[in-house]
Amino acid sequence: MQLHLPLPELTLAEAGAEPPAPSHRIFCNRSLRLDRVEWVGFDMDYTLAVYDQFEMDRLSIEVTVRKLVEKGYPEALLSMPYRTDFAIRGLLVDRKYGNVLKMDRYRYVKRAYHGLVELSLEERRRLYHSRRLQPASRRYHWVDTLYALSEVAVYVAAIDALEARGQDVDYAGLFADVRAAIDAAHQDGSILDTMLADLPRYVRRDPEMPRALHKLRSSGKRLFLLTNSHADYTARMMDYLFEQGPSEYPSWRNYFEVIITAAKKPSFFTESSPLMETGNGEHTPATRFERGKIYAGGHLALLERHLGGGGDRVLYVGDHIYGDVLRAKKESAWRTAMIIQEMDAEQMALEACGPQLERMDELDDVRDAVYDDLHEHQVRLKEVSRARDELRATGEASTELDSARVLHRHAIDRLKARLRSADAEYSRLEAEVGRAFHPFWGPVFKSGPEVSLFGNQVEQYACLYTARVSNLDSYSPMHYFRSPRDRMPHEL
Ligand SMILES: [Mg+2]
Repeated sequence: MQLHLPLPELTLAEAGAEPPAPSHRIFCNRSLRLDRVEWVGFDMDYTLAVYDQFEMDRLSIEVTVRKLVEKGYPEALLSMPYRTDFAIRGLLVDRKYGNVLKMDRYRYVKRAYHGLVELSLEERRRLYHSRRLQPASRRYHWVDTLYALSEVAVYVAAIDALEARGQDVDYAGLFADVRAAIDAAHQDGSILDTMLADLPRYVRRDPEMPRALHKLRSSGKRLFLLTNSHADYTARMMDYLFEQGPSEYPSWRNYFEVIITAAKKPSFFTESSPLMETGNGEHTPATRFERGKIYAGGHLALLERHLGGGGDRVLYVGDHIYGDVLRAKKESAWRTAMIIQEMDAEQMALEACGPQLERMDELDDVRDAVYDDLHEHQVRLKEVSRARDELRATGEASTELDSARVLHRHAIDRLKARLRSADAEYSRLEAEVGRAFHPFWGPVFKSGPEVSLFGNQVEQYACLYTARVSNLDSYSPMHYFRSPRDRMPHEL
């Protein structure tokens, strides 16, 4: 006899009817069934380890500027203010003119700054709108990590300061010096040692994160760590992050089947670096992975062999659009989730601007309708004028045609005035909304009415995106993430 056991009832959240609170939500670009995922991999920096952006920027700026002055830049740079709130991810630095740009998905430059001064529409047109911009060329530098925000803060402040002194600035040279200074600060330990000496100041530890990883493991998934950070730093950071995890994990190592440090992503996905086992301050060659050990280097094929093929049964969680998300997507069949720390602020602004955004949609409809009316009256006016001119040529006049002309003219004036007022209101609201998102650049994901280039990359390469790793805890490990974008505009 067959037993018919009742199926466990889905909770509303699991059924997708009641999503978690906005700050805990995971957003989906490409549908993904979590029940089919067998391996979940994590990047460490800015993914498991969330840094305090202000403190990190302050520290990076301090050491960068000190190195610039050592290199011969004026000492005044040491005592001037730096705007840590200036840069956002997704900006492009134009090394040729020393400008910082934000583009939409069509690479149209919608906003640009020279120093902290915004470029006018005419300046933007002259420099960037006559031909298609090539962000990948050597002239430009793409700001795609949170690490890089401090470089931009130093660059724009230095341009302002040097130009105020009447100096001719070599914009490309200055940018190269800023980058070299910050790279040196990372290599000589000026940044990492300071952070390790005061982790509570620089790291925002998420107490929910270890539990989210435990939940994945409890559902049978296996985890791996794949980070570019070196073994010693990784161990110190992970000790701190997992200090207060569930008691069944005496060490952070117990969460992971495979631990790879110094992975050199993105080349981890494309090259074949040898795998080394680390321990006791030494690196020894290794050919396979053992649980509990910390490795350095290696490459995708080696890891996939250990994962038993990998492919689309692997979900990799990272914060770097190029190194973690885009490269993984292009070189493997891995599914990707992107951690976007900016999500909380973006969503709060989105919520706060609800009425303005609604009114902007209304104004779009108003403008479309007014344009149609205006066009109609302009065409009619032309027809009536032509008829009147033809009549006049025969020496006759028509008061009817004259008054029709006056009527159309009045209507055109009225509609043009309406359009001007709608445009003015739209611009005012757009500026207000932009400021609510970010004082210099507006939303991270949008550029005017279009999706920003950054937003476009997230949309293309990240199957899922969310503010923090612990948001995985708000969903069942069997959750079916469904993309809202499975229909084309003509199907809606
Ligand atoms: Mg990272």
